[in-house]
Amino acid sequence: MKQVETYAPPKENGKIMLNANELYCDLDEALRKEVLYELSKLSFHRYPDETSKELIEAYAKVMELDAACILAGNGSDEMLGFLIQYFLGKDKKLYTLQPDFSMYDYYAGMQETQVVKFVTDADGRFDVDAFIEQGREQRVDMILFSNPNNPSGHALSNQELLKIVDAFPCIPVVIDEAYAEFARDSMLKETSNYTNLYVTRTLSKAYGLAGVRLGFLIGNKAMMQTLRPHIVPYNISSVDQKIGAVVLRHASRYQPLIQSICEERDKLYQALANLQTITFYPSQANYLYGRSQRKQAMLKRLQEHGIVIRNYANDDSFRITIGSKEENACIKDLLVAFDKEDT
Ligand code: PMP
Repeated sequence: MKQVETYAPPKENGKIMLNANELYCDLDEALRKEVLYELSKLSFHRYPDETSKELIEAYAKVMELDAACILAGNGSDEMLGFLIQYFLGKDKKLYTLQPDFSMYDYYAGMQETQVVKFVTDADGRFDVDAFIEQGREQRVDMILFSNPNNPSGHALSNQELLKIVDAFPCIPVVIDEAYAEFARDSMLKETSNYTNLYVTRTLSKAYGLAGVRLGFLIGNKAMMQTLRPHIVPYNISSVDQKIGAVVLRHASRYQPLIQSICEERDKLYQALANLQTITFYPSQANYLYGRSQRKQAMLKRLQEHGIVIRNYANDDSFRITIGSKEENACIKDLLVAFDKEDT
């Protein structure tokens, strides 16, 4: 029987949902109208374009990439699962970080692939040389981790990442950039220089389309040509393809929003960095990671105010998504007051 770590999305229905790193606001009215108008012209009785041409070309334009270097999926989840399925299997080893995005364990479990984890520091930092050494010792078959890391928000520099890519020239190195729009750097442009480097991206976070399910895999053109025939045909519905293409036509509108989320994140971190009973870490994503010995009481307090954050049941850590200005101010006030009660 396959041993699969199940992924259980939180079912709580609070007023302020700061648990899933979603964008706090939906499409604006004008864009919603344009999306609905474009959908009204679709032929629903036909299968979708199996090449997702319009969507991929729209993404290529925004990211200034060659469309031939991109594959599209039903969320970046599909692309991550696809890579694990394609490159790994029984008797193979996936190398990732602890902690990192839990779906890696799920997909590896489906393939009966062993998962080797490199344990990072409390704030998500880690020694790249030690990471490389452990990977070599363990003879791993594929490297995959998120950068910025989910949950810590810590991001390695491109220079550090390239050191890893160079150290493992014969195995795929996959950088999951679900949160890269909020970070200082990205490996997207490096993909054309390496045959073993892959980057995954999503429209679920910075572009606010978590409910639509669109993600991308970016890699060297030759490798993409090899992988393309192995993607499930019609993996993305006509509806999803069209919504993604329309939103990407207006990608520049998202820049001020992304910028303001980064500013809010840094402001919230500054306001919470000196608390006595809760530790927060610097982040390059749209969330803050923290730890507290008083976590249970803290979660209860937030819950009383209708705020749901991501709790990690196995230790003292938690993660808070950056929300609207009002939501961030509310959580800041609650945590500052909570912290004072103990001192
Ligand atoms: N990678 C990371 C690090 C994530 O946090 C998530 C979503 N929580 C994903 C990938 C999956 O995103 P998508 O919605 O594109 O499937």
